[in-house]
Amino acid sequence: MAAIQVDGLTKRFGETVAVDDLSFTVEDGELFGLLGPNGAGKSTLINMLVTLLGPSEGTATVDGHDIVDDTAAVRNSIGIVFQEQALDEELTGAENLAFHSRLYGQSAGEREERIDEILDLVGLDDERDDPVGTYSGGMKRRLEIGRGLLHEPAVLFLDEPTSGLDPRTRRDSWEYIRRLNEEAGVSVVLTTHYIEEAEQICDRVAVVDDGEIAAIDSPGALTESIGGDVVSLELDGSTATLRDRLAAQSWVSEFSTADGGLRVTVDHGRQRIADLVRLADDAGVPVTAVDVREPNLETAFLSLTGATMAEREADEADSAASDDGEAVVGAAGGDR
Ligand code: ADP
Ligand code: MG
Repeated sequence: MAAIQVDGLTKRFGETVAVDDLSFTVEDGELFGLLGPNGAGKSTLINMLVTLLGPSEGTATVDGHDIVDDTAAVRNSIGIVFQEQALDEELTGAENLAFHSRLYGQSAGEREERIDEILDLVGLDDERDDPVGTYSGGMKRRLEIGRGLLHEPAVLFLDEPTSGLDPRTRRDSWEYIRRLNEEAGVSVVLTTHYIEEAEQICDRVAVVDDGEIAAIDSPGALTESIGGDVVSLELDGSTATLRDRLAAQSWVSEFSTADGGLRVTVDHGRQRIADLVRLADDAGVPVTAVDVREPNLETAFLSLTGATMAEREADEADSAASDDGEAVVGAAGGDR
């Protein structure tokens, strides 16, 4: 049985389509990532799957239970760690877990055994009797993840599990997430806007952009699917003629307009720089800067969505700012 089966799931907030007709499957035991910039619809999707938000259209099952008709069974099958931290800082790590264990109605004996197992799994044995207020950000996150596993759920949902952690702590957290996926045998669905996180720990990744899934595959296969390096050309002038010329070149796999220039996908990008500069000169638009990126999940995202994650996040921030009537900074560009 699949851990999660999603079929035509849609969520609208007024005019906004936050999740747009998604269908996909998460296999049992998988570590599955939803990768996308802020505002892509990741949290909305997760909130529907954990039964906190009703879908506008479509259906889904979690551990075989329908998210609309069978909410109680879904809630029993899942653990959740939200983006915002929710721990009692006055209580110790063990006490925080005990509190939740009581909520789930575990017996005292079961409780103690389970808490020991969990503290061991998330590496907080030595700090079990320290107040959580003394924990580092990474330790708090691990405790929350452990808490999500207390009642042995079939599926664990982690919404931005390493957001706000420093890069080193983030890396450490990846190890724990992988470990609990393997050792506790729990299927994991996590959301992230960190490309490296998706690349490093996920078995499969859904690239989410603007409420839709642009692609879904293993990080390696997504990277390979680009089929070349991405050469970014910063250009001084209209790109119309150059675009016509690029379209006529057999060695150009793909190109798109970018803020202040063009992005061209070609094999052996470095060796094509001279050709590209010459084409631009012939088209009467001088190249002011060149950047070559080898395929990775970052360039895969770029090639799938036509923008980098950072650009998408800037768009989202700009639209939020203009919603508030504030000035939009640095959003010029698009097609020239
Ligand atoms: P992500 O988690 O990928 O950052 P979200 O799911 O939070 O994205 O948001 C997706 C879109 O839905 C955004 O445009 C956001 O502003 C909008 N949205 C999310 N929740 C609500 C809500 N409760 N009411 C109105 N709009 C919402
Ligand atoms: Mg979110």
